[in-house]
Amino acid sequence: MNKQNTLPRVGFVSLGCPKATVDSEHILTRLRAEGYLISPSYADADLVVVNTCGFIDSAVEESLDAIGEALAENGKVIVTGCLGAKGDVVKRAHPKVLAVTGPHATDEVMAAVHQYLPKPVLSHVEGPHDPYSDLVPPQGIRLTPKHYAYVKISEGCNHRCTFCIIPSMRGDLVSRPVGDVMQEAQNLVNAGVKELLVISQDTSAYGVDVKYRTGFWGGRPLKTRMTELVQAMGELGVWVRLHYVYPYPHVDEVIPLMAAGKILPYLDIPFQHANARILKLMKRPASSENVLKRIQQWRSICPDITLRSTFIVGFPGETEEEFEELLDFLEMAQLDRVGAFMYSPVAGAAANELPDHIAPEVQQQRLGRLMQLQEKISTNRLAAKVGKTMQVLVDEVDEEGAIARSSGDAPEIDGLVYIENGRSLKAGVLVNVRVTGSDEHDLWAEII
Ligand code: SF4
Repeated sequence: MNKQNTLPRVGFVSLGCPKATVDSEHILTRLRAEGYLISPSYADADLVVVNTCGFIDSAVEESLDAIGEALAENGKVIVTGCLGAKGDVVKRAHPKVLAVTGPHATDEVMAAVHQYLPKPVLSHVEGPHDPYSDLVPPQGIRLTPKHYAYVKISEGCNHRCTFCIIPSMRGDLVSRPVGDVMQEAQNLVNAGVKELLVISQDTSAYGVDVKYRTGFWGGRPLKTRMTELVQAMGELGVWVRLHYVYPYPHVDEVIPLMAAGKILPYLDIPFQHANARILKLMKRPASSENVLKRIQQWRSICPDITLRSTFIVGFPGETEEEFEELLDFLEMAQLDRVGAFMYSPVAGAAANELPDHIAPEVQQQRLGRLMQLQEKISTNRLAAKVGKTMQVLVDEVDEEGAIARSSGDAPEIDGLVYIENGRSLKAGVLVNVRVTGSDEHDLWAEII
């Protein structure tokens, strides 16, 4: 019998944000390292792991549905991820699941897998077995395309934003050792990755928990701190993109690195609101006046910087005037990319207790007004790029041409650059293009 046919097979369903994707990658890497096979279908799997999202109600529903489907199709299911941290929600909805863990719990998931599907015995006549070099590539198992990868630099968060339950699910900030992060980044680059996407719950807080301890990389000391880390990553010769950068003052330090071309001129910086009272109710720092001044400064140092942010509209108690202050802020800040969400109560969040929740139809109307304004701003900012030349990274190629991204476009969340004369290109290559057209999200370009 083919040896592969006798190895235990695990099916894997990965839901949620890039941080959950990285958790999935860690579990899949461990499974492969121990000799389990990853099954592409429920029917062929001996057991299924479902990595869930529990951030908003619709994500909870999607996760519970996925668990239900895995139970119906396979029957043996282990649940992990953010929904698993939400008390007994999973067990109540699906009492037949074998085990439930919270997010970032590779060891617990592996323990549960071992209990219900014993580890395969791997025999190697040639010599001692090294599962990593035998079964998984040095960069681990990745769920993203070969040319970009998420690098998670820390877990958890020390903030207590009143609309968020992530700290109760993922705990306080725990930074990964800087040498480990750099080794992972180097392995990815060696494996052909062209873009590293730095993620965490709070990227600018990197190292706070270890008092910016000095680690080592490449035989030299390196501080566990965002600026030093991204400077070192910038030396690896690939695109480095920063996500979830909380607006602390030291964020200003990375802008010169962007201007010098060491890391991408792109900052994903969630402001959430512009009104001081609402920011206080949200337990967020920073007044919008300060933010506007800083944005001006950033743009004077690095004129090509792309700024992405997220905002919550209809937060409890938000008055019409306070909402208009947010619109005025957007008009002045001229951000490139904006994600906006209607406030929705999440079970366990402190903001649920605040008075004066806003009626859904008012929230909806405010969201519409904000998106309309931002669409105008984004359209104008993209139109200003027409005629310019830029480097883009090709994501895929089809019969109509190549689909790529510029320094201003993170995968999944931002726009695309369509290259009509790009049929001969290949995914993962960098190419210089001239922008020929634009709309509210995307650009069109030709190879030069
Ligand atoms: S910074 Fe605030 S919103 Fe972000 S994870 Fe921490 S508590 Fe949640």
